[in-house]
Amino acid sequence: MGIAGLKILLVVGGGIAAYKACELVRLIRKAGGDVTCVITAGGQQFVTPMALAALTENQVYTDLWDLKDEAQMGHIQLSREADLVVVCPATANLIAKMAAGIADDLATTLVLATDKPIMIAPAMNVRMWEHLATQRNIRWLEKAGIKVVYPAEGHMACGEFGLGRLQEPELIFSEIIEYASQQPKNSNSSLLKGRHMLVTAGPTHEAIDPVRYIANRSSGKQGFAIAAAGAELGAKVTLITGPVSLPTPRGVTRVDVETAVEMSNAVSKALPADIAVMVAAVADWRPKNYSSKKIKKTGSKSQKILTEENPDILSNLGLSDERPALLVGFAAETENVRQNAQHKRLLKGADWIVANDVSGDVMGGDNNQVLIVSEHGVEELGRMSKQQVASNLVYRMANQIGEGEKL
Ligand code: C5P
Repeated sequence: MGIAGLKILLVVGGGIAAYKACELVRLIRKAGGDVTCVITAGGQQFVTPMALAALTENQVYTDLWDLKDEAQMGHIQLSREADLVVVCPATANLIAKMAAGIADDLATTLVLATDKPIMIAPAMNVRMWEHLATQRNIRWLEKAGIKVVYPAEGHMACGEFGLGRLQEPELIFSEIIEYASQQPKNSNSSLLKGRHMLVTAGPTHEAIDPVRYIANRSSGKQGFAIAAAGAELGAKVTLITGPVSLPTPRGVTRVDVETAVEMSNAVSKALPADIAVMVAAVADWRPKNYSSKKIKKTGSKSQKILTEENPDILSNLGLSDERPALLVGFAAETENVRQNAQHKRLLKGADWIVANDVSGDVMGGDNNQVLIVSEHGVEELGRMSKQQVASNLVYRMANQIGEGEKL
């Protein structure tokens, strides 16, 4: 199941982070999900029911004892109509009540009465978060099968520093997408149906002689995750990959290549495509003179390897008559990430550049932190798993090309 059509009951607790619930609603709505909000008395001190009603285009529920609300939709029904219940922000008080099974207002009653999965995103002062009582309650809730989106570290509204900040809405949204993608498939998983998505991934190997080559540290994990997420949304996916040791994602057509030139040819052959996502870390140069015999030591202390430039697959696609409707490049940078990515977008004729700082553990690791540069500006996603980055990006892609003409 995709997020489109997913019904979410969002419980908004009291805390300064409640304003971030508005952003979460916006992200879910943009991806085609349906949100109904319940807001606690504390939550209403920070966000108005009117704001949430406008954003969700649904009635907002506040009171357990409201006869009018109860006549329209009983609280038990409200708790069962959703596919997923999300508590965001989940305060220490809400968490404690949930763990104790207390139901003394509409929000806690719904959470107790629901038969659907529950996800909570805690937000509170660092001492409240670290308090034994809160930690015990969190552990208990996790044991009970509730998904906890752990808070981040940072400066708090109260002036203190530490764990307890609500995760960024983008990350909570990614968790919801992940939840949705684990549900049985239905027609909602067809956001990209009828679309051809081309993905390049991994490094390239540029041979010097039969035993040596120039390569880089790309593992292919991010590209493979994007291919998998595309197939998950119903796209026909062609994944052109350099040498990696990863299994082929389900429903994806894989083409294995070794060099940049082979990758470039495979891309041309796979066209036309609606979306092309160039994740591969393509070698910029290849040895000019391949030696068919292993190069021997000559006794000299240095060995020159002359190189020539490889084709730039992304730029060529940008200029091609068969340019995909959405062309996405990646930029692995170690400095001036934002500026370099903005420059690269224009230089290469891409619609988006997804940039990351690879000076840390990104290459080969399981997590990533990217920013997306598009004509609308720069958007930063927080640190998350490569799968979460993939789901997030692919939903954006589906939104961007929407119902546009198909190939
Ligand atoms: O210039 P740079 O290598 O940083 O650009 C990165 C982007 O360009 C990535 O999307 C990568 O897949 C693509 N690229 C390419 N062909 C090359 C070099 C990079 O498609 N020869």
